[in-house]
Amino acid sequence: KVRVRFAPSPTGPLHIGGVRTALFNYLFAKKHGGDFILRIEDTDQNRFVEGAEQYIVEALHWCGIPFDEGPASPTSKGNTLGKHGPYRQSERKHLYKKFAEDLIEKGKAYYAFDTAEKLDFHRKDHEAKGKTFIYNWHNRLKLDNSLSLMPEEVKKRLESGEDYVIRFLTPPDEKLQLKDIIRGDIEIDTNILDDKVLFKSDGMPTYHLANIVDDHLMEISHVIRGEEWLPSLALHQQLYDAFGWEAPQFAHLPLIMKPVGKGKLSKRDGEKGGFPVFPLSWNESVGYREAGYFPEAVVNFLALLGWNPGTEQELFSLVELVESFSLERVNKSGARFDPDKTKWYNQQYMHQKSDAVLAESYLGFLSEKNIEAPSMEYVEQVVSLIKDRATFVSDFWELSDYFFVAPADYNEKAVKKQWKDDTGQIMRALLDVLDTIKDFSSENVETVVKAWIAEKELSFGKVMPPLRLVLVGDMKGPHIFDIIALIGKEESLERINKAIT
Ligand code: GLU
Repeated sequence: KVRVRFAPSPTGPLHIGGVRTALFNYLFAKKHGGDFILRIEDTDQNRFVEGAEQYIVEALHWCGIPFDEGPASPTSKGNTLGKHGPYRQSERKHLYKKFAEDLIEKGKAYYAFDTAEKLDFHRKDHEAKGKTFIYNWHNRLKLDNSLSLMPEEVKKRLESGEDYVIRFLTPPDEKLQLKDIIRGDIEIDTNILDDKVLFKSDGMPTYHLANIVDDHLMEISHVIRGEEWLPSLALHQQLYDAFGWEAPQFAHLPLIMKPVGKGKLSKRDGEKGGFPVFPLSWNESVGYREAGYFPEAVVNFLALLGWNPGTEQELFSLVELVESFSLERVNKSGARFDPDKTKWYNQQYMHQKSDAVLAESYLGFLSEKNIEAPSMEYVEQVVSLIKDRATFVSDFWELSDYFFVAPADYNEKAVKKQWKDDTGQIMRALLDVLDTIKDFSSENVETVVKAWIAEKELSFGKVMPPLRLVLVGDMKGPHIFDIIALIGKEESLERINKAIT
């Protein structure tokens, strides 16, 4: 059975790259009728950030990516989901030590007592010679570990409570044959590998040990994660082999690259797409949610960052993504983030949303401005007139303020251009015409006004632009008769009257 996991460390707000990893895991699981598991990798207490786990859960929830198994959360109604729990590594910490000791017994790992100062000395010493210090076959015996000590000495040190770590014993001169679904076959020479720390005397496993043990115990079939973990693959494969366990299949997703220039998209790219799903706390900048993105748009553009359907199709619902997704169609090379494209996606979803739904979210913005809308229906009609010009719901106000408040002033440039000597007179005459109209629908007002223009032998240019100016305050907006009809007879007449007196 396909079982995949998203295994974030709760060290801060979820970056958009993390959401993509979660999404690809979810899509792969659902495509194959499998399970998607959320595991919180919180063994590194120094990097722990309060609230980050809750944040991750909420972010997934906002994106509409549900997990089948994971820690208790409001969305799982307070229960841990699934029978492979607990799903927080901090709650599993009693579990890892015996696995580390098991490796020592098998001769695949060893105790090391090096002090931080000593390691630092060796590192600097190597650096001075232009080399990188690797804790491996080459240096091991010069260091303070159980491979260079007598067994009694090791025992004594452990019993006296000396600080230690357990390191993986990398065999020299081996060529590891690694497999990655996206990258194909990879060969690694073990001579370049570090003896990574697996366990520390504070009783905590490192990421590597906990990750492998949990993937095994949770029966994970496929590990789908970011490319930054590719260098760990050699160790992970060796750990599975050392334990005698069957390794899951691996797929390392390409990096998401900055919109311009080199390097991967980072938090510092903020406005250009690096920002998180939403801020973790009040003192953080904006996230996708605050910027006005629809979750469906975020999911859609993320899916196409590194994956392609092999067709021209760009718009995919989550269900369609599940149908079309395959790891074989994930690209090897980095996916460049395109801020304009993400906006385009949001526009597309804007078009798909009903006016009622959009009006509902616009209400929030209106109440922030202390605007009381005449009715929900009115807001919906406003939305239907302006939404084609908007990328985000937050653009609505700028595009439609005049539907709610009469213009306080008029665009000066437009006044200069449109307001001629006879404009006042024409507007006064138009006012009288409008006053006689009973059916104030857009079509009827348009018919009457156009007939009047023809009869008086006026030009459109003398009537329409100034009319727009007095109603809107500027030369923007949709069809002028739609505006007139919506704000209504009384308000239209008032605005014209105000402009000419
Ligand atoms: N805890 C790791 C992270 O923060 C998990 C990496 C993996 O998926 O193996 O991304």
